Amino acid sequence: MRVTVIGSGYVGLVTGACLSDLGFKVVCLDKDEDKVKMLQAGEVPIYEPGLKELLSRNHAEGRIRFTTDAQLAIDHGDILFIAVGTPAQEDGSADLAHVLSVAAMVGRNLKDFKLIVNKSTVPVGTADRVRAAVKHELTQRGMSSEMFDVVSNPEFLKEGAAIDDFMRPDRIVVGIDDGIHHEKSQRMMGDLYASFNRHHSRTVWMDVRSAELTKYAANAMLATRISFMNEIANLADALGADVDQIRRGIGADNRIGYSFLYAGCGYGGSCFPKDTQALVSTAQAHGQLMSVVNATEQVNERQKTLLVDRLVKRLGDDLTGRKIAVWGLAFKPNTDDMREAPSRVVIKSLLERGAHVTAYDPVAGHEAMVALKLDCAGQEALLNNFNLVAHDMDALHGVDALMVLTEWKNFHNPDFQAMKLSMRTPYILDGRNLYNPDALADLGIAYQGIGRRNEL
Ligand code: NAD
Repeated sequence: MRVTVIGSGYVGLVTGACLSDLGFKVVCLDKDEDKVKMLQAGEVPIYEPGLKELLSRNHAEGRIRFTTDAQLAIDHGDILFIAVGTPAQEDGSADLAHVLSVAAMVGRNLKDFKLIVNKSTVPVGTADRVRAAVKHELTQRGMSSEMFDVVSNPEFLKEGAAIDDFMRPDRIVVGIDDGIHHEKSQRMMGDLYASFNRHHSRTVWMDVRSAELTKYAANAMLATRISFMNEIANLADALGADVDQIRRGIGADNRIGYSFLYAGCGYGGSCFPKDTQALVSTAQAHGQLMSVVNATEQVNERQKTLLVDRLVKRLGDDLTGRKIAVWGLAFKPNTDDMREAPSRVVIKSLLERGAHVTAYDPVAGHEAMVALKLDCAGQEALLNNFNLVAHDMDALHGVDALMVLTEWKNFHNPDFQAMKLSMRTPYILDGRNLYNPDALADLGIAYQGIGRRNEL
């Protein structure tokens, strides 16, 4: 079986790289010529640990190729993955323009049977729309409209650990509908993922609509855990309790578990914000309430402004002449993805109040500049007060405060004495609860974590 992956972003590239590493011959198609040229030259447009090595090894061994040639790509694969973006629209619903344009493109190029596998995160009913778009093109060409099937195979990888997640999945969700190709599609998907099912079956088979909704339900559940802990943390601050102790206390309950119980300055990324919004929007369209998920989003929006609110309470609303350091820009460690990163909200808000911001991130500096330029469109002068530095300690000279916004490993154990000497006032706002409040108090550093018995 040969595989084509349409869309060479985080999901498409990881899928292509991992399947080629499992021995499949893979073609990755993207419409972005610059991206494809980079990939052909052995460069990787995104930062994802292990991805570059995996791609270059399989590229050198002839198992993976990159192209903008749609006909070549469609001819190549028995299985065609759709892994293009589904960004949020103004009203929160998912924009399916890329998915449906890929479906039409497949229909225009199809010559024999193909299994179309939708990996993009899409609202329930999208597989039907993909099916209709392909059929429409086939009918236009006077060809049989039964030459394909559409299945759903949502992706659960986490950026920063994507290769490991793909290669060692907790589960693989595959949605297939009853129809003339049911058995064939199930066999092909079974063969595709056989390597992951050798020890025990990790594939959860279901119908297409349930598979589509499973992805949203999973992300909404994870986002809800985070917002729930953020609310508990804020209450803990008001009551003089410590959310980290509470986390351990509830996580030890098997029914709850430890994952996704970390309070912080809000979640971001390309998935949680957009997928929770899309779920709410789908529910609304069907006359259903999604109160829990709605509240999850509201809490997250508030949480992103929490650190600036605290800083303002201490230093005043007018931050003109103040210098603030920021450690960590990406929405989480081990990625350069800046989509919906809380740092964007924090930095813009600091700049609007007149502060000078000096920021450091191990890999996301370039992407952060692109994102901040977008955020400050029409207020470009704000960026005159923003600069990036190449080392974490360089950000601290003469600053009034340090905000830690991403839990990169190298922020875990900094030299606090040197930091204190470098800063104008030793004041740390720890948006990821990396540090021990008591230890910092002993060092004479003012500290505010999230729900850590802060003096607010
Ligand atoms: P991305 O924006 O990084 O990549 C999408 C790619 O598709 C881009 O390279 C773009 O040029 C390409 N593309 C768009 N239209 C095309 C077309 N007509 N033909 C060929 N290429 C086209 O997106 P991503 O982060 O990889 O996400 C893809 C999907 O997977 C989304 O639905 C997302 O919600 C979902 N998802 C993402 C993650 C994640 O962590 N990023 C995890 C799970 C699921």
